[in-house]
Amino acid sequence: MSFTATIKKELTRLDSESCCKKAELSALVRINGTVHIRKKSFMIDIVTENPSTARYIFSLVKNLYQVQPEVLVRKKVRLKKNNVYMIRLASNANRILEDLYIMKGNSWERIEGIAPELIKRPCCKRAYLRGAFLASGSVNNPDSASYHLEIVSTYHDHSQSLCQLMNRFYLHAKVIERKKGFVVYIKEGDKIGEFLNIIGAHPSLLKFENVRIMKDMRNSVNRLVNCETANLNKTIQAAMRQIKNIQRIDQEIGLEHLPDRLREVAETRLKYPEANLAELGQLLPSGKVSKSAINHRLRKLEEIAKKFSADNETKED
Ligand SMILES: [Zn+2]
Repeated sequence: MSFTATIKKELTRLDSESCCKKAELSALVRINGTVHIRKKSFMIDIVTENPSTARYIFSLVKNLYQVQPEVLVRKKVRLKKNNVYMIRLASNANRILEDLYIMKGNSWERIEGIAPELIKRPCCKRAYLRGAFLASGSVNNPDSASYHLEIVSTYHDHSQSLCQLMNRFYLHAKVIERKKGFVVYIKEGDKIGEFLNIIGAHPSLLKFENVRIMKDMRNSVNRLVNCETANLNKTIQAAMRQIKNIQRIDQEIGLEHLPDRLREVAETRLKYPEANLAELGQLLPSGKVSKSAINHRLRKLEEIAKKFSADNETKED
């Protein structure tokens, strides 16, 4: 699975606030939706090649408007072999388009840009960006030679608003016109990391920052220091530290030599770097344990790892 697809899968598993759902869906419909007229009323088709995004759009519509959209799947004949998913809204489309601030009432008039009503709250601003990324966003694999994240939009006014919204978070986004439409893009690695953090793609952010740190380490020690102090949130920093500890222990003695209770936690942490402590407690193969038990075992692992560092320092002395 590509890095972009992994991020999208993650995003569709987030439990967004009820106020944010509308902002997310508005971005998705605005970018991936086509409006048709049938018997004097509107019909909306929202198209995506990503199955998780399709499921997500379906559940947002159902959740917000209590209507059951139709889902159509097409096989692409040429180009890639991906399926194309179409979520079709035939009933209440006028009302939904108005409610999502895409069209003005029953008129033909499209509302330009991003309506301020949709993005009043900070969480909804993030949600709009999340929806836009789900709709047409992509990002280079962190291993690739250059950093690039982009979101394509058909309308110039919308891409400008999207760019402004991103720059409220100081992301240094820019807009360029291409054949496929207007492209809002970010070129700097640390800003791409921040974008992933803003839209809530935390496991992918962890992966992205890990690869980025490894890459930059080859370039210069100074830059490494900056990256490590980058504003990753606390949970991620803790998870990164735990993983380092576990890898250290694995190198020194091998995880198989740990007591079962610790080995199990170590292996589960490596397998689920994004899980928080409570989730880790649920994921243990031998059965659930409490958050504080997990915390206790991780601290034990840290003590063991520290002991190795201390041993090595004494040896070097
Ligand atoms: Zn919100």
